[in-house]
Amino acid sequence: MSYTLIIAEVRRGVFEERNLDSAGIAALLGKEAVMLLPDGAYQTGNIADTIVKVKVGEEVFLNPLNLKNILEKVFTARGNPDVIIFTHSSFGMESAAYTAGAFGFPVVTDVSGYDKERGVFLKSYYSDKIFGEFKANGGPVVLSVRSGSFKEFAAEKTATRVEEIEGVAPVEGRTFVEYVEEEKADVDITKADFLLSVGRGIGNKDEIPAYEDLAGKLKAVLSGSRPVIDKMWLPKPRQVGTSGKTVKPKVYLAMGISGAFQHIAGMKDSECIIAVNKDTEAPIFQYAHFGIVADIHKVRDKLKEIMG
Ligand SMILES: Cc1cc2nc3c(=O)[nH]c(=O)nc-3n(C[C@H](O)[C@H](O)[C@H](O)COP(=O)(O)OP(=O)(O)OC[C@H]3O[C@@H](n4cnc5c(N)ncnc54)[C@H](O)[C@@H]3O)c2cc1C
Repeated sequence: MSYTLIIAEVRRGVFEERNLDSAGIAALLGKEAVMLLPDGAYQTGNIADTIVKVKVGEEVFLNPLNLKNILEKVFTARGNPDVIIFTHSSFGMESAAYTAGAFGFPVVTDVSGYDKERGVFLKSYYSDKIFGEFKANGGPVVLSVRSGSFKEFAAEKTATRVEEIEGVAPVEGRTFVEYVEEEKADVDITKADFLLSVGRGIGNKDEIPAYEDLAGKLKAVLSGSRPVIDKMWLPKPRQVGTSGKTVKPKVYLAMGISGAFQHIAGMKDSECIIAVNKDTEAPIFQYAHFGIVADIHKVRDKLKEIMG
């Protein structure tokens, strides 16, 4: 019987919200949605037709080297699925590629759309400037799906069946050691009503005090895109995006940020997005409620003047 297999993303026993995107695309694909979970995973709400619990801990489950043996057991028990779905997280990215390589299956990563009629998957290039369409010739096809792309299609299932499969002996070669806590935040950007977020466009670290000053005048909290954090212009807890924080302030003022999808995923649900960028083609303008095409430093100085 044909089915889609969702590899759940679980951290410290907690079911990640991004699994909703996997369930969403599974719903669009319209087959039985089977979700694979490690032992002890806590899940709120059922979003698959069948849950298959593997009797292994999370540290074994999250290691792509072990997945091959786990998946072989699933395939033996249920036959091959038509589609295997991972989230496009750091775990999902490497596991999707590894699974495709291990079994010789086709793979499409970072899928952000699906055209049901034509059976094609959509994938972005150049920060959403163009999209590519992919059709799987044969299968099972392995996907990693972009966070925030399909969650609205996930539906709560009332008649979820639960099956169990025996665990596997962990493969040697790579062992999970521990989770490392991120550095303590001086301020929690997820709680701010107004975020002034700066990107690589500010040019260099010496510009930070002037933007801090503006944030103070606007009663905003300063946050940044990943390059700003990687260059250590701002501390890591201030990063917005897929590998930083997801924020939903009342106002998100983005200055010198291009709008790469990893950034957009972390701020697109803000109530009011204002973008300042000198490039009219910057993708962030597609998400902004208000856009200003201008030099950010000039806008900064003008705003400071207005705020006094
Ligand atoms: C696995 C992975 C995870 C990632 N996670 C994140 C994440 O969590 N958060 C994140 O932000 N990114 C993340 N990224 C990086 C992301 O792909 C982009 O590279 C990044 O968001 C770009 O940051 P930026 O917009 O500040 O810089 P750029 O893309 O370089 O954009 C700078 C912008 O500033 C504008 N500009 C320059 N000078 C001026 C000026 N004087 N006046 C006006 N405008 C100006 C330019 O036109 C440009 O649009 C991730 C990438 C990967 C691969």
